[in-house]
Amino acid sequence: MSCFDVAIIGAGMAGASLAAALAPHRSVLLLEAEDRPGYHSTGRSAAFWTESYGGPGVQPLTSASYDRLSDGGYLTPRGALHLAEGADTALADRFLQTFAESGIALDRIGRQGIEALVPRIRDGWTDGVWEASCQDIDVAALHADYLSTARANNVALRCRAGLQRAHFRAGCWTIETKAGSFEAALLVNAAGAWADRVAEACQVRPLAIQPLRRTIAQLRIDPPTTAALPLILGLDGSFYCKPDAGGRLWLSPHDETPTVPGDAAPEEVDVARAIARLQDVVDWRVEVVEHRWAGLRSFAPDRLPVIGPASDHDRFFWFAGQGGFGIQTAPAAADLAARYILGEAGPELGRQIEPAAYAPARFD
Ligand SMILES: Cc1cc2nc3c(=O)[nH]c(=O)nc-3n(C[C@H](O)[C@H](O)[C@H](O)COP(=O)(O)OP(=O)(O)OC[C@H]3O[C@@H](n4cnc5c(N)ncnc54)[C@H](O)[C@@H]3O)c2cc1C
Repeated sequence: MSCFDVAIIGAGMAGASLAAALAPHRSVLLLEAEDRPGYHSTGRSAAFWTESYGGPGVQPLTSASYDRLSDGGYLTPRGALHLAEGADTALADRFLQTFAESGIALDRIGRQGIEALVPRIRDGWTDGVWEASCQDIDVAALHADYLSTARANNVALRCRAGLQRAHFRAGCWTIETKAGSFEAALLVNAAGAWADRVAEACQVRPLAIQPLRRTIAQLRIDPPTTAALPLILGLDGSFYCKPDAGGRLWLSPHDETPTVPGDAAPEEVDVARAIARLQDVVDWRVEVVEHRWAGLRSFAPDRLPVIGPASDHDRFFWFAGQGGFGIQTAPAAADLAARYILGEAGPELGRQIEPAAYAPARFD
């Protein structure tokens, strides 16, 4: 049995992006529990890149990912409208204040601007913030390209190889999976919703990473959406929606239901809540719910990603807690993790990224 330099547990966006970054420098084993990579959160996202999404603590990773996503051809301009109802201007005020120092181009718009962006918007929606930089991301292409870069650089990908337990002895992890045993000098936990379970199976202290269910419904509506429709997000956090091909709409109630790791399924009540909210906002007729799905967004207690060696085991590396931003932050997060692992972490990491903000040691 050969001993890999690094074993990465989980081949979603996190594991695949890190495998691609490490592959030219280290021997890498990528272990995935499912039949194929990307079955869980990565395959279920709303596929947008929005700099403000996730808050100011996440934004440096999102902003720093832009060039690589854009250069790779994964982005399509969309624009985001953060929308508030009624005469209460406090929501938009607070939102703008939160990002005042961020460098994100955010413009306050009133009723006239909102009407120009959203056909048949109902009365009462009079306050908004326009985030021009928002983009759609081609998630499947990004994930596939990370996996093919990894394979081209000799990463060994094993599917149906869920980690069951692992032991560290004499400088080496022995990893027991359904597909047999493997050895590696460093173990990376990129198991998404299962991150705490993987830590426990490795006798490492879990970090209270909580999976929260998020629902999306694909609707056929009248009038059909056009490509010009922006991503529309309620500033009160009660919904978001964006157009999809063929005049369809993707709609979410922005739900965050705590759940256990697993194959998340949508609940009818969440779909109904989303549609009811949509109908408060626009005069659009919902013709049919064509498709619905749910996925897990997994958060550390402070809702920032966890990137760095475990405090209680320096050969166990956390790459988890990607919450609702694991696609849009993938290039910069993988870069940060790879630099740590390759021993290059330091102030030269540059931009506004502060590695300590994401280090597991913040929970000690
Ligand atoms: C509805 C929804 C909308 C979203 N919209 C966006 C968006 O617009 N933009 C954005 O940036 N992000 C979005 N996200 C968040 C994004 O999808 C996640 O942050 C990202 O996919 C997390 O990637 P991951 O690799 O950490 O997790 P996952 O994709 O879940 O991958 C983890 C993998 O680990 C595997 N695994 C688990 N346990 C084991 C084990 N013991 N052994 C081996 N393998 C194991 C799992 O099978 C899984 O494949 C959204 C998420 C949801 C659910």
